[in-house]
Amino acid sequence: MKFSNLFIPTTKETPNDATLPSHQYLVRGGFVAQTGAGIYDFMPLGKMVLDKIRAVVKEEMDNAGANEVQFGFVTPLSLWDESGRSTTMGNELLRFKDRKNGDYVLSPTNEEAVVNMVKNRVTSYKDLPVHLYQINTKFRDEARPRFGLMRGREFLMKDGYSFHSSQEDLVREFNLMEETYKKIYTRLGLEFRVVEADSGAIGGSGSKEFHVLANSGEDTIVVCDSCDYGANIEAAIRKPNQKEKLETISQEKVETPNCKTIDEVSTFLNVDAYYSMKAVIKKAIFEDTTKIAVFFVRGTDELEETKACNSVGALELEDASEDDISNAGLVAGYCGIVGLPKDILVVIDNELKEDNNLVCGANEENYHLKGVDLTSMEDLVFADLIAVQEGDICSCCGGKLSYTKGIEAGHIFQLGTKYSEAMNANFLDANGKTQPFIMGCYGVGVSRLVAAVIEQNHDEKGCIWTKTTAPFLVDVIVSNAKKEDELDAGLKIYEDLKSNGIDTIIDDRKKERFGFKMGDFELLGFPYAVVVGKKLQDGLVEIVDRKTLEKTEVSINDVASRIQELIKN
Ligand code: ATP
Ligand code: MG
Repeated sequence: MKFSNLFIPTTKETPNDATLPSHQYLVRGGFVAQTGAGIYDFMPLGKMVLDKIRAVVKEEMDNAGANEVQFGFVTPLSLWDESGRSTTMGNELLRFKDRKNGDYVLSPTNEEAVVNMVKNRVTSYKDLPVHLYQINTKFRDEARPRFGLMRGREFLMKDGYSFHSSQEDLVREFNLMEETYKKIYTRLGLEFRVVEADSGAIGGSGSKEFHVLANSGEDTIVVCDSCDYGANIEAAIRKPNQKEKLETISQEKVETPNCKTIDEVSTFLNVDAYYSMKAVIKKAIFEDTTKIAVFFVRGTDELEETKACNSVGALELEDASEDDISNAGLVAGYCGIVGLPKDILVVIDNELKEDNNLVCGANEENYHLKGVDLTSMEDLVFADLIAVQEGDICSCCGGKLSYTKGIEAGHIFQLGTKYSEAMNANFLDANGKTQPFIMGCYGVGVSRLVAAVIEQNHDEKGCIWTKTTAPFLVDVIVSNAKKEDELDAGLKIYEDLKSNGIDTIIDDRKKERFGFKMGDFELLGFPYAVVVGKKLQDGLVEIVDRKTLEKTEVSINDVASRIQELIKN
């Protein structure tokens, strides 16, 4: 491809809201153009990258035996009524009416559509398993679309869905998908980590996420320094933090004037904060109602919101305002487990289960309780609520846990029978008995990956594509294309590289100066440049490595073999 013949509208201008390098460089490099909040067009170079990623994903999915299909981008709302998600999906689901007043949605994911496709077409265990996938546009009306392609409203996803007659077979496919995804991210040249994940609104149990490691990642992932353990903080666990057990004493109400925080109370009472209960008050949003929820964790711990949300089965949690708190009959700063109002949801962290001598609020201004014994109380609800901290101990091996940042680039779930049951999608098992399909679902964020590659691979000058994602591997830069000998030599190298099967572009623009072309090379991030310039008379050109910006002089006859060597490494 020739620069002179390719639409690559590079610009010096960075969008105001572009805080991430990928967002800035993809716009400045003319890869993508924004048309609305979270909506992007792909221009020629962007489309090439997208297609390269898509091709790797397709090849590995096909190798794994999945069948490519295509679901309508628009699906009737009635399908979503069948699964119940028309009410649970909330505002991310974009709904609209057609001219006949029929209700439709733009697909944010396609569990309903795939169940509808398979239902009544696959009827016997003999026809299972089935795995169908597509690489298609999704729309989610995200509350905060941001970071360019990273969190769009319209985006490209590979979504696959498998159907099984047994849990074992689902687990086999789930493991196969884990291996398939690892191959995909490895082929894309990315550093990534597979982690335990929360299953979120899609439901079911058993799920893993694939994170591209990058400082700008939105997700905090917890990793162990000595074993393979990795988990999204939303699902991370640790070895319980245990200090010596105190003696049981009788419960006592004590005055704690103006002591609202754990620090203030523990200092005032001279009690280690470890032996206190921290109350976090939230508003839990359900399908048809809102309730106040109090979550208790140890004074030295922090609440993990996703875990808290799951523990009460809410759609989401919101911060409770001062009014919410007082209207619920609670006293901010003095909320405790004894004597809470009745219609409040209460969950206590698992690690407090055996505690017999704790300090907590007395549900009365300026008072706390000492000697609170949870082991003697009835009907308490416990769950894992804590956010693992850096330095905590790994429950698998005793190693040290730490945080790293990741971009979620894929997610695989063992769904079970959630959708097949809701939508009455069944098969006949070996005994002639009707059973709901056992399902798995598997997503790859194809357009998010375009951004993720750049988040992991860039410098202050621009993009640095990996070899499998680069629109072109080599940019032949003709320093002065008005000079016929330079242009001819450049074209010869260009043809030579192409005939060796190397994706090459030639910067043959006559009106641009060398410095400008070099600037474009650095911004656009092709892995190598071959500069045809001053030393042409001596039969020499320069190879530039985009990653290191190192320059090497080579004989014009050796260009193809040198480039081939570089690509192999
Ligand atoms: P997130 O937590 O980032 O919102 P999710 O859990 O909603 O992601 P899934 O429903 O599992 O995502 O979708 C599968 C994949 O699609 C994700 O792993 C991610 O790579 C990609 N993805 C999800 N939402 C977006 C979005 N708004 N823009 C671009 N890619 C997305
Ligand atoms: Mg999401």
